[in-house]
Amino acid sequence: EERKEMQQSPVKKSNHNNRLLIGIITGIVAGALLGGFWPEGGLTVKFVGDLFIRFLMMIVMPLIIAAMVSGIARLGDVRKLGSLGTRTLGYYIGTTALSVFTGILLVLWIQPGKAGLENSKASITQANVQYRIEGNTVRIDSAALPDSDLTTSTLHLLDRNLSASIDSTRQSGDTIVITTSGWKRRAEAVTPENGEGKGIRLDRQPDKRFMQEKRAIGDILKEVVSGLVPSNIFKAMANNEILPVITFSLLLGAALSMTGEAGRTAILFFNSLNEAMMKIIHLGMYVAPVGIGALIAGRLSEAGGFSGFWPELQQLGKYAATVIGGLAIHSLVTLPLLLKFFGKRSPSGYAVRTFPALLTAFSTASSSATLPLTIECAEENNGISKRTAGFVLPLGATVNMDGTALYEAVAVIFIAQMNGITLGTPELVVVFLTATLAAIGAAGIPEAGLVTMVLVLKAVNLPVEGIALILAIDWFLDRCRTTVNVWGDSVGAGIIDRKVKR
Ligand code: ASP
Repeated sequence: EERKEMQQSPVKKSNHNNRLLIGIITGIVAGALLGGFWPEGGLTVKFVGDLFIRFLMMIVMPLIIAAMVSGIARLGDVRKLGSLGTRTLGYYIGTTALSVFTGILLVLWIQPGKAGLENSKASITQANVQYRIEGNTVRIDSAALPDSDLTTSTLHLLDRNLSASIDSTRQSGDTIVITTSGWKRRAEAVTPENGEGKGIRLDRQPDKRFMQEKRAIGDILKEVVSGLVPSNIFKAMANNEILPVITFSLLLGAALSMTGEAGRTAILFFNSLNEAMMKIIHLGMYVAPVGIGALIAGRLSEAGGFSGFWPELQQLGKYAATVIGGLAIHSLVTLPLLLKFFGKRSPSGYAVRTFPALLTAFSTASSSATLPLTIECAEENNGISKRTAGFVLPLGATVNMDGTALYEAVAVIFIAQMNGITLGTPELVVVFLTATLAAIGAAGIPEAGLVTMVLVLKAVNLPVEGIALILAIDWFLDRCRTTVNVWGDSVGAGIIDRKVKR
């Protein structure tokens, strides 16, 4: 029966992947052109892409309920849920930990935030002074300026979250040198070259405020756990909160499987609903190339095409490269090895058959919105049983985020490096744990990881403003990590399905 379904599926045909590729390439070209020459046109294209996301989000809620309830009820004996559950959680936690570990090793090795100030952006308020950045020093040439202008000015190093108030009274023609080697956590007073005046004071403003707000891991854990239990299931559904709906569906499925004859009708209902949802997703697969292309074109054009995107990438290039490098190691080495040895499946074939879901993840930046396609690819293309897919994938879409966990750890350590703070081993362990928790707590929606990163920053006492440092490039990294999140879920389904008796 599974074979027959595989043949009917539109995504099974290899030309579907080709259509998707054409969609994405057209999207990139169109985005670059629109961004450069016709931003208004980009908005229209974005509208089409947003329609595609709305379509996916529309089916996510009923799909999760139908897939989970019928998947769990299919287990028959609820005790089997126990073993499926244990294995699934084991996989989630194990792979997330591996992923964070990869990220931490990489960011400590590459040290993307430790570079000199060469690429820093500086601005000086009020005074229109010239500055040069040489190695770790900022050279301000005040030659053309009256003294008063400079003394009321503040020097901002925009990408470092640092500012310097200038309180020296200087003769015109002087050169003020700020030595910035080893930026300290607190203020650093620097004497001008000739030793006169008070010099320039460097302050990292947010320090004190966030000192008191240090958050214990226990609190973070509580927040994650209480998010699992809804006080009102309909409210949770209306608000697109996936985790509480999963809790409810799990309970409902388990209860139905135990009710015997009395529960049969309801189980049949959810089975039929599940089939119907899959039919709707089939439909969506046909428009996916257009939707994906439009999403990419819209976002790229919003970023101003390539000419807008490159400066962002250059400025944060080392950091972005670290995140992407870590994601690549995890998704191209670690996960395939696991799939090969534990799932006994060919990683490359499995990846090709998951391609539509991966591409959708990249273009929507949302694991939840991608879920319909993740399930479709797993069940129809890779022959994963409905029981496994119905349990592992919906849960994984919100809970299992390898890419997000890796990214959070790298980003936080990068922010520390940019502020001249060296994290010790105990702090790195805290980063490891909280990044894992923060990824579990992140919803499968765009930029969710950026928000839950606050937990990690607070746990190691770093300023939340540090997030500003990485904002410019985050829309792009979000897409990369979401793709890895979805790939991690799919690989999990492949591994766990082999172990579950079909
Ligand atoms: N956008 C990601 C996802 O949906 C979550 C994140 O922001 O890291 O998987």
